[in-house]
Amino acid sequence: MEQTKLVALTFDDGPSNITEQVLDILEKESIVGTFFLIGQNITPERKATMERELALGCEIANHSFTHGDMSKMTAEVIRDEIDKTSDLIRDTVGVETRFFRPPYIALSDTMYANINMPFICGHDSRDWDASTSAQDRVDRVLAAVKDGSLVLMHDMKDNVKTLEALPKIIAGLREKGFSFVTASQIFDQKGIDPNVPHKIWSNVFD
Ligand SMILES: [Zn+2]
Repeated sequence: MEQTKLVALTFDDGPSNITEQVLDILEKESIVGTFFLIGQNITPERKATMERELALGCEIANHSFTHGDMSKMTAEVIRDEIDKTSDLIRDTVGVETRFFRPPYIALSDTMYANINMPFICGHDSRDWDASTSAQDRVDRVLAAVKDGSLVLMHDMKDNVKTLEALPKIIAGLREKGFSFVTASQIFDQKGIDPNVPHKIWSNVFD
């Protein structure tokens, strides 16, 4: 088994007005990422962006429908959030979502009991906070990533500092010898089964 160092870049809260620019960067670098979509952001005009994500080899995953705090939701509402988003993704681009990221990484036993997908967190670039500089986003990611890591970033509306940080993050990780894969690929290629009850993953080996 080849011991290539792997990292999975992931992006939350799209599709948005910056998602195409994130894809431009990934395409230019010939790498893939994983996009955790908010169901209510999936509008007809974003369909082409989702198709482009898949055409570039990227993965689409589930980040709830309304992006509320799901730790305060009932079982029924939680299942509705998940199913509506998975159904809409399937209806729009024909793929099944395999992974879930909880909004705000807010967790509850009810969520674990009712969401039948592996939960993903990832090393936090803090790029959801507008006061985090582009360089700080780069430094946080490069300091945290190890073999098997998932990285948490956001292709949320107007998040231009991440567009500035992303090429530097990619260059820095390449320099450290990392190859870039999707969330599914990082588990599959490392031979790790992500279906572990009551677990949220930031690195496939932790
Ligand atoms: Zn989010």
